[in-house]
Amino acid sequence: MTGIERCVGCGVAVPVIEGPVHRYMTSAPACWQRYGELLALLYSRPGLGQAVIIAADTYAVQHPGSPNPQAIQSVDIHLLNLYAYLVRGRPVRNPQKTFGARAFHAIAAPEERERYWLDPPAFTGALTVFDMPLSGPDAAIQDRASAWAESAWDAWRAHHAQVAAWYDDYALPQARR
Ligand SMILES: [Zn+2]
Repeated sequence: MTGIERCVGCGVAVPVIEGPVHRYMTSAPACWQRYGELLALLYSRPGLGQAVIIAADTYAVQHPGSPNPQAIQSVDIHLLNLYAYLVRGRPVRNPQKTFGARAFHAIAAPEERERYWLDPPAFTGALTVFDMPLSGPDAAIQDRASAWAESAWDAWRAHHAQVAAWYDDYALPQARR
């Protein structure tokens, strides 16, 4: 009989399996495996470049891990990127194109750890990587990726004001308009 466990990140109930997990985006192995399957699909479709970025941001903020510098930088940068396109209407791009090196350095600084760690929410009721289809037309997959991102971003609502303030600090000038 296969046991069931809850993913330590997104909270989804998944079968207990043996398998690798990411070094700092901690998850249940079955959740990490599903994300790998999703990325394989997205990378195989030239029309889904934006969905790759959205999925990477969304999976990262639903698997915040523990307060170590890499996890803090990952969660903050991916939250900032979600904010950029979901709230500020910026184009969907890799975070490196919206935030300068200064943002990456400041947020990762070990002495700033306390200040930049945002207590993760529970993701009860939020969409997870298991809500992403692994087949079907590009448009349906893209729409679902956007819905997943909105759902994960909404779960972080207690920290929206902080993310907005960091955005104004750290986004490159051309991204602040
Ligand atoms: Zn998960």
